[in-house]
Amino acid sequence: MGRHGGPQPPKRVQKLHGKPWTMQARASRKVRKHLDTQDHVTPHFTWAEFACQDAQKTAVPPDLRANTIRLCWLLEKMRHQLGDVPMSIDSGYRTPERNREVGGAADSRHTHGDAADFFAAQVDGWITQGTAPSRAAVVAIASRIFASGGVGNETSGTLHVDARGWKARFVTWVAAR
Ligand SMILES: [Zn+2]
Repeated sequence: MGRHGGPQPPKRVQKLHGKPWTMQARASRKVRKHLDTQDHVTPHFTWAEFACQDAQKTAVPPDLRANTIRLCWLLEKMRHQLGDVPMSIDSGYRTPERNREVGGAADSRHTHGDAADFFAAQVDGWITQGTAPSRAAVVAIASRIFASGGVGNETSGTLHVDARGWKARFVTWVAAR
């Protein structure tokens, strides 16, 4: 408690902070305030890991931060349903320039700050460390949580999810390996 020497948040905030998959945590203004002091989007995700992977490490612009926050509360749910697995963002926000450089889709959700990619190695790790027995089970969980969002089960093994606000699916996974 108070590990970083900062003021210790009230008990109720600590309790909600420890259950980030709940509506109560998501709706709490005190939890939000605490997260902001820590530079966290939500308890398990930081603003630093969402920054664009360009030379300048461009941060999520202020007008897109609400999108990233919306995404991360859903990621907290997904993380929990996978069995509280370790989860970190392999690719988050992209500037339009960066998106063009990496050959992203035109108007990719990554440029809106509400998308995250998880590479194959991480998805495999969730299966070995968590409660989902297979990639199909992981995708099923993502599809339920991102029911009104995007899920991309990509041939590269990358799993893309986004909180765009309407349902989009791109399933290009090839079973034969
Ligand atoms: Zn993506």
